[in-house]
Amino acid sequence: GLSTEAYRRQHEITTTGDDVPPPYTTFESTGFPSEILKDVHRAGFSAPTPIQAQSWPIAIKGCDVVAIAKTGSGKTLGYLIPGFIHIKRLRNSPRAGPTVLVLAPTRELATQILDEAEKFGRTSDISCTCVYGGAPKPPQLRALDRGVDVVVATPGRLNDILEMRRISLRQVSYLVLDEADRMLDMGFEPQIRKIVKEIPHRRQTLMFTATWPKEVRKIAADLLLRPVQVNIGSID
Ligand code: ADP
Ligand code: MG
Repeated sequence: GLSTEAYRRQHEITTTGDDVPPPYTTFESTGFPSEILKDVHRAGFSAPTPIQAQSWPIAIKGCDVVAIAKTGSGKTLGYLIPGFIHIKRLRNSPRAGPTVLVLAPTRELATQILDEAEKFGRTSDISCTCVYGGAPKPPQLRALDRGVDVVVATPGRLNDILEMRRISLRQVSYLVLDEADRMLDMGFEPQIRKIVKEIPHRRQTLMFTATWPKEVRKIAADLLLRPVQVNIGSID
């Protein structure tokens, strides 16, 4: 296999932060639970994408992560699989609410993320649901009431449900802001900040974004704690 330095150079991976672990260049080297590897092999994937290879060991260590990589680079599994491992670690303690929360800008993205979570969490028995605007609330509320490990949400609808007191985020300990740049472009910053106030400080926070403008840097500085930053290619 390639050395860490050669792999990073070849895939244009740059990192900032302390004690960044070496990338997982193959699925065999991930040490993922066999159920997860089974779902990965079923999908026909031959190797981690560069953002996955470098983000996975950082996220699994429990560090906050900022991951900057263009669309189509496999960011969803970059945060979902460490989220599943996080859930498996907490499995013995009873939970009164979701432990993983993923915020995404649109209904389309939220449902795509849910599809990916169901496909790769199936064998691990991870339960997921999603909530988004432009659709009736009752079915979404009923799904939440059944109890789930993972909630994928658009910020507006999640705030509505929080105001109705139909969800508690006190058990969330793994928070993902996906497409952070788009969420801010769409004006979701106030809703995101309100949601984060409901989540305990003792948590892991991951931010995935295609671009790294000033506004995204600012919210990352406010919501993440000493994050490790991973970039693939050049930053716009
Ligand atoms: P992004 O969020 O960076 O835009 P996605 O997470 O949506 O990218 O992934 C893009 C596509 O690549 C999806 O169809 C996903 O299933 C697929 N994919 C993810 N990881 C891998 C991999 N390791 N090998 C091959 N395809 C992958
Ligand atoms: Mg994505």
